[in-house]
Amino acid sequence: MQTTQEPSSLWLDTASIPGFAPLDGAARADVCVIGAGIAGLTTAYMLLREGKSVVVIDSAGVGTGETGRSAAHMFPPDERFARLERTLGTGNTALLADSYRRATDCVESIVRAEQIDCEFERLDGYLFNPHGKWDATLESEYRVTSRLGIDVRRLERVPGLPFDTGPCLRFARQAQFHPLKYLAGLARAIVSLGGRIHGGTRALSIESGATGQSVGTAHGDVHAGAVVIATNTPFDPRFAPRERQQAYQSYVIGLRVPKDALPRALLWDSGNPYYYVRLAAAAPGAAHELLVVGGQDHASGDGIDPQRRYAEIEAWARARFPAAGQVEYRWSGRVMEPHDGIAMLGHYPAGQANVYIITGDSGNGMTYCTAGAILVTDQILGRANRWSELFSPARASLQR
Ligand SMILES: Cc1cc2nc3c(=O)[nH]c(=O)nc-3n(C[C@H](O)[C@H](O)[C@H](O)COP(=O)(O)OP(=O)(O)OC[C@H]3O[C@@H](n4cnc5c(N)ncnc54)[C@H](O)[C@@H]3O)c2cc1C
Repeated sequence: MQTTQEPSSLWLDTASIPGFAPLDGAARADVCVIGAGIAGLTTAYMLLREGKSVVVIDSAGVGTGETGRSAAHMFPPDERFARLERTLGTGNTALLADSYRRATDCVESIVRAEQIDCEFERLDGYLFNPHGKWDATLESEYRVTSRLGIDVRRLERVPGLPFDTGPCLRFARQAQFHPLKYLAGLARAIVSLGGRIHGGTRALSIESGATGQSVGTAHGDVHAGAVVIATNTPFDPRFAPRERQQAYQSYVIGLRVPKDALPRALLWDSGNPYYYVRLAAAAPGAAHELLVVGGQDHASGDGIDPQRRYAEIEAWARARFPAAGQVEYRWSGRVMEPHDGIAMLGHYPAGQANVYIITGDSGNGMTYCTAGAILVTDQILGRANRWSELFSPARASLQR
């Protein structure tokens, strides 16, 4: 249970994350991955499986960034397929749906292959309107997702809940997991595949030379053929399409609920501000589980008191889940919202050979970071990937 004033997430409290020593002198590898969150570790793992040598460096350690603050459910995009289709067009939206499907399958297959005990679970996700009515948002989302071949159904309400959501969409076979147990498993797999991970090692610079890239740190340089910047927000302005995304703050609380009192499902409402809900296991041996409720997102730096945000989320949850007991956790983190609604993944910028970024992953980072790892792996290996243009950080729609 959270015991300090410092907001700590449920995940940080209930995972055992391996520690890694800082880099000790110069290193050489096919690929240097900067950042040991879900984006960096998934990319490192996939490259190692392809036979590449990989060094991962992180300024702090595995899982110390936003991945440890996530709610870690995999659900259709916050921006909605229907809204995105209006700007991306039908073909690109079909590619986006493909990336969501493949990313979720990818996490599941890694969990299976590496036997990672991270509470991975397939379950239905529900989108409903806070006013309890069938509206244009639900209607257009239903139409577009059905056309995309997504397994979606219209229902009168979310089944089994203590409150009536009103009409909703049910998306079958979405997913949730414990993000830091997943990262711990990935880290172990990376080491067993011969990869190196160094904590306490901040990337300070990236320089191109005749023989490849050189990543400068205070502990020595990493020389590599390719560099993947997986730091959530690229740290170097040359690799940061900063004007193309905006930081938002999101808040989460974890309330006690009796075990098995609620259906295993993901919930999301279409309000402004919106709320999202999932269940998670409490600490081992606990007689209860946790209702994880998040939302109240706002542009970073708008000065609104976080305590008020937590109180709003708690009031929303208590009005709908009378069985909810004590609040055990409160935490908050930053999501990067791209201006055109989809993540920036892949080679960037055009003039710089062999540098790749994974950023702009909105509230769908579990999905986008995994899709980014798949895409960047293909690009480094010189394989064609149908998502390259869609997710290109240099795509025209972002050049405002
Ligand atoms: C409250 C909240 C709820 C969320 N809920 C969901 C959800 O339910 N589903 C979902 O899909 N997404 C969700 N997200 C988004 C998701 O958590 C993030 O998009 C995702 O975790 C980003 O992963 P990452 O690997 O890119 O970054 P991070 O996990 O932040 O990892 C980046 C790493 O880079 C390191 N680093 C930074 N700079 C340097 C440097 N110069 N040198 C070396 N290392 C460096 C950091 O120490 C860090 O460990 C949520 C986010 C928040 C904040």
